[in-house]
Amino acid sequence: VVAGEDVPPFANSAMDGYAVRAADTVSAPVRLDVVGTTAAGEPPGVAVGRGQAVRIMTGAPVPPGADAVVMVERTRSAPDGAVVVEVAAAPGDHVRGAGDDLRTGQAVFPPGTVLSPGHLGVLASLGCEEVAVVPRARVGVLSTGDELVAGGGPLQPGQIRDSNRPTLLALAAGAGCAAVDLGLVGDDEDALAAAVERGAAGCDALITSGGVSVGDFDYVKAVLDRLGRMQWWQVAVRPAKPLAFGVVGTTPVFGLPGNPVSSMVSFELFARPALRRMMGHTDLDRPRVAAVADEDLRRSPDGKLHLVRVVATVAGDGRWHVRPSGGQGSHLLHAMALANALAAVPDGTGVEAGATVETWLLRSGQDEDYLRSP
Ligand code: AMP
Ligand code: MG
Repeated sequence: VVAGEDVPPFANSAMDGYAVRAADTVSAPVRLDVVGTTAAGEPPGVAVGRGQAVRIMTGAPVPPGADAVVMVERTRSAPDGAVVVEVAAAPGDHVRGAGDDLRTGQAVFPPGTVLSPGHLGVLASLGCEEVAVVPRARVGVLSTGDELVAGGGPLQPGQIRDSNRPTLLALAAGAGCAAVDLGLVGDDEDALAAAVERGAAGCDALITSGGVSVGDFDYVKAVLDRLGRMQWWQVAVRPAKPLAFGVVGTTPVFGLPGNPVSSMVSFELFARPALRRMMGHTDLDRPRVAAVADEDLRRSPDGKLHLVRVVATVAGDGRWHVRPSGGQGSHLLHAMALANALAAVPDGTGVEAGATVETWLLRSGQDEDYLRSP
């Protein structure tokens, strides 16, 4: 975006007061003749000559001849329509110059800028009603598993409720995507293939959960292999181990693990940065800080990076501090929901209380992005 005009478009008063010639006020207090009044929204009025002043309101154009404004609190009215200016003004006092904020031709925002409320105000101040933007990625979210039930109805023996879908839809929306609910599909290879194919045709990216492990009914990998190109990894991260990635047509498909915490952490690690890149962002990762562990973060060596669900706060010492938000099993979604960060505990025996640990901030207390509806 390049400025097509000056903002502000004309020199105007920053105060309610009197427009004066600064040179007339050097020997203040001084009596000046008031030759007019000018309000915001009016064209520049009568000129200010030597020994004269114009009553002026905030936002009104500075009249020709005047080079300073004296605030009304530094004046008193005098008989015969005159004013006494009690202080000497310097040229430019309380005058907002044309182009102070933006000058014609100036580069305003570079490509890739995320339009925040302030940016929208700037665009409005320039009369810029349309800008070229990158569309939000349409991201389809699909749950897989014969055991899953949507909603709050009764559970039959062996059934559990589908918690990944609402979570992943909200994570996608929170990453700035337009999230599309593709529903629930059982552990049936053909039904899964049909759902993935349909989803891929209508979306810029797909996210599935479940069915990527080495169980007998884990069909996501087979389906991605059949429909396009598929890669599968056992990632040395806990939680988040199995990950399948495929491209169906031109649509990337992230096959996230089924365990609820694993699917959330995998989304953070693999899907979110990719989706952000698809949408033109250059800043892909969550902020990382060095935090003080307030409790021991013990673990045993297993060759993996452990991402511990923690509550991170800035304490009185001005530093980030973390403590576990609860149990660390990959099925313990409640503790994940209570966490606002992941502490990255490297392979080994863990981090002792008082030591620092690299921490990835997932959200701040007032960040409601993740609640934004698609
Ligand atoms: P899977 O990778 O399909 O074997 O799933 C691993 C674990 O995650 C199993 O205990 C599943 O029941 C559970 N799971 C899979 N999908 C979901 C889901 N959408 N919501 C809640 N739990 C799930
Ligand atoms: Mg499954």
